[in-house]
Amino acid sequence: MKQSQLFTKTTKQISKEEVSLNAQLLQRAGFVEKLMAGAYTYSPLGLRVLRKIENIVREEMNKIGGQEVLMPMLHPKENWVTTGGWDSIDILFKVPSRTEKEYALGQSEEEIVTPFVMKRVNTYRELPLAVYQIHWKFRDELRAKSGLLRGREFLMKDMYSFNEDQADFDRFYAIAKQAYLAIFKRMGLTAKVTEASGGSFSEKISYEFMVLTDAGEDDILYCSDCDFCVNVEISKQKIGETCSRCNKGKMERATASEVGNVFDLGQKYGKAFDLGFIGRDGKKQFPVMGCYGIGISRAMGVIVEKNNDAKGIIWPASVAPFQYHLICLGDDAEVKATADKLYADMTAQGKEVLYDDRADTGAGAKFADADLIGLPTRLVISAKTLKENAVEVKNRNEEKAELLPLSQF
Ligand code: ATP
Ligand code: MG
Repeated sequence: MKQSQLFTKTTKQISKEEVSLNAQLLQRAGFVEKLMAGAYTYSPLGLRVLRKIENIVREEMNKIGGQEVLMPMLHPKENWVTTGGWDSIDILFKVPSRTEKEYALGQSEEEIVTPFVMKRVNTYRELPLAVYQIHWKFRDELRAKSGLLRGREFLMKDMYSFNEDQADFDRFYAIAKQAYLAIFKRMGLTAKVTEASGGSFSEKISYEFMVLTDAGEDDILYCSDCDFCVNVEISKQKIGETCSRCNKGKMERATASEVGNVFDLGQKYGKAFDLGFIGRDGKKQFPVMGCYGIGISRAMGVIVEKNNDAKGIIWPASVAPFQYHLICLGDDAEVKATADKLYADMTAQGKEVLYDDRADTGAGAKFADADLIGLPTRLVISAKTLKENAVEVKNRNEEKAELLPLSQF
């Protein structure tokens, strides 16, 4: 992509009301634009990051047998009345129609996926099943001041599993938890598996995947010695106490952001819709369901919160919109021709290059933009490097630059 043609530019004009660091950096660098609190437009750069994150999630969900589907965001009121959610879920957006009808906007989709799947399952032989989608969710959140961390409209991966009994569910639940850890690791995030209450979904314990960051909205307690971690909201453990799991470490407090979670839904939804299947004993059973969420757009915000310096964003390679930022310095025709050729060659090799070919922009501004946008590797072609038949190479997270022969690229 040539930067001269890139639709968004970097900007210093950010609303003073924008208090969150991820939103400030992403807007200054031209990845997103705030439409209103809790709703952001993604520019071509921002969308590339979102797609990278999505694809990591998609690959790992496919690996454990998840099948991708796409369900509507606009839901009939009846489905939400059936489960009681219409009256009990405070963040549910309700949409009146000019007809008598009312609708809900999807905030999670058990109400849609349960009939969709269970109308097609007749016997235990058709189970287990896990379907997932990557789609926008709407929530009437009271506070939306954390940039991409808390949207009123946000991108989520939601998977739903259907198993014939608790034992088979437990088997899949463990596999899904492992897949989650792999996903966050690929994004460059370290997630702590945190025990929490099942919330509105069930009486059971659920697991949240927490990334430590001061920008987060959750307080957790974690053991200084073992993996044990709990959400403060529900915990009987207190700060400074000995860990109830290993009896060795002390519980320490931290602020974190929940990038994903997994819930054991039990048989609630199959029963609510009275949709079951014929079990091994020939009798009607209800599926044991699970739901598994990942905040795709929140993860993008958390990655920015964790990877930045005074100059801008420092994208991990796995989610960076481009891997290389090629910068052409000066207006010498030979320098320009060399940079043009390097861009064409690298692109032909399938490398992702953002090429700063802008003729009217000085070196200082180009370097400042490159640091702000934060691609992993910066390549510079100038009169100086051309003399050596070389490229100046510098990684965004390192200070030192080196000259490498042009022929190496
Ligand atoms: P939170 O406690 O942060 O409100 P939640 O418990 O309501 O999250 P879920 O309903 O399980 O979250 O949603 C699944 C995932 O979607 C969460 O783990 C989180 O990563 C993401 N998520 C939830 N609410 C939002 C939001 N308002 N904006 C962005 N991402 C969100
Ligand atoms: Mg919530």
